[in-house]
Amino acid sequence: MLGNKSEWVARDERVVWHGFTQMQTFSQNSPIVVARADGHYLIDVDGKRYFDAISSLWVNTLGHRVPELDAALISQAARVAHSTMLGNANTTVIEFSEALAQVVPVITPHFLYCADGAVAVEQALKIAWQYWANRAETRQSFLALGDAYHGDTVGALSLGDQGFFTEVFSPLTFPVQRTPGYASADWADKAISVIEAQGDEFAAVVIEPLVQGASGMLMADPLEVARVGRAVEESGGLLICDEVATGFGRTGTLFASTQCNLRPDLLCLGKGITGGYLPMAATVASKRVYEAFLGEDLGPATFYHGHSYGGNALGAAVALAHLKLFEDGKILANARARSRELTSALKTSVAPHPLVRALRQHGLMVGIELDSSLLIPRLGRRVCAEAVAKGMLLRPLGDIIVLMPPLTITPQEVQTMVDVACRSLDAVWSEESDS
Ligand code: PMP
Repeated sequence: MLGNKSEWVARDERVVWHGFTQMQTFSQNSPIVVARADGHYLIDVDGKRYFDAISSLWVNTLGHRVPELDAALISQAARVAHSTMLGNANTTVIEFSEALAQVVPVITPHFLYCADGAVAVEQALKIAWQYWANRAETRQSFLALGDAYHGDTVGALSLGDQGFFTEVFSPLTFPVQRTPGYASADWADKAISVIEAQGDEFAAVVIEPLVQGASGMLMADPLEVARVGRAVEESGGLLICDEVATGFGRTGTLFASTQCNLRPDLLCLGKGITGGYLPMAATVASKRVYEAFLGEDLGPATFYHGHSYGGNALGAAVALAHLKLFEDGKILANARARSRELTSALKTSVAPHPLVRALRQHGLMVGIELDSSLLIPRLGRRVCAEAVAKGMLLRPLGDIIVLMPPLTITPQEVQTMVDVACRSLDAVWSEESDS
C-alpha cells in the first residue's frame, strides 16, 4: 500500500530539501507526490492524474514511459550503466555523439558531457576562458544579457542577471558586461554596439537564442538574434548559445540556433537531451575551439575539468533512442502544429482575461504574464494551485504562468490545457472579486 498523500508529504518534510522551495511552507503549497506516470500524465500516491503541462520543469519531451526509451534504458543496463570518460571511452557514448554530431548547428562538434545544464554552461565559460589563454591572447570578460538565466552554479550565476533571489551570492560571482535582454526593443542594437566597440575584450558573448525562459519567457526576433551572432563572428570572438531550455524541439526546430542562423562556437545542451529520463547535459565545442586545446600529453593546453558522471552510458543510450525518434520529422511537425493551435486558443480565451497582462509564445514555450499591477498577493502561485487542483501540473515564475507541454501533446490536450488555465484564472479572479 502506498499510503495517502499527507503521510508522504510528512515523510518528505522530515528528510527532503526541495530546490527553489521554502520548506517551512512546502506542505501548504499543494505539492504533488508522484508515484508513477502514464504518457503525458503524472499519477500521485492517491491515484490522481495530472497533465504534466510544465514537462517536469521543461525536461520531458515525449511524455513519460516512452516504450522506446524504456527499452533503451533496460538494454543498456544489461551491458554497463556507467564507466568513466576521463581518459577512457564508452561505445554508447560514441554512438550517441556520432548521431548528435549530425544535427547540432556546430561545426565539426566535440561533446563534453556532464549531468546538468548549469554545468554545461560552467564548462562553456571555462573553455572560452582557456581558449584565449591557450592562444596566448588576453580576453578576460564576458558579455551577457539582461534577464539572462544560465543556472545556479557560481559561474553560471555570474553570467545570469539578478532577479532570481540570488543577490545574496553576488559577492561570490565575477563581474560581466551586460546589455539589455529581450524585454528591450533595442536589445540587439545595444549588444551589437558594445560588441563592435569592445569585441576584442570578450572571452565570449553568451545568449539564450530566441527565448529567455526562466526570466519569464521573453522572446526575441530570430533576425535580431542573427544580427548579434554576425556581430560576434565579425569581432572574431566566441559565441556561447545556451540551449539548455530551447534545445530538442521546444521552439519548433531541434535547436533554436538554427532559426537564428547561428553557428555557435560553444553550445550548451541539457534538459530534453534524454527526453527527460536521466540527468545528462553537454557542452558542444566547434572545431576551432576544440583544436585550441590540442597539445602535448599532460601539457597546459589540456582542459583540466571533468565530472564523475559525465557521459553516463544509461543517459547516452536513452538520448540516442530519443534522437532517433526525431528522425522522421513527425515529432517536430506535431510540435509546430500544436503550437499554432495553442496560439489561437490562448488568444481567444486567455488573452482577454482580466488577470492577464501579456502572452508570449514561441513553439511550445509559453509565458502568460499576470497583471502584477492588480497587487493580488501570490497571484501566480494561486493560479497554479487552482490548476493542480483541477488535474494539471503548473509552476509559476513569479507572476508568470509557464505552459511547456510535451512535444507530443495532442489537439485535445491543447484545448484542455487552455481550458484548465482559464478556469484557474477565473477561480482566482472570482475569489478576489468576492473579497
Ligand atoms: N540554462 C538555461 C537557459 C536554463 O533554462 C536552465 C534551467 N532552467 C539552465 C541553464 C540550468 O539547467 P539545470 O537546471 O539543468 O542546471
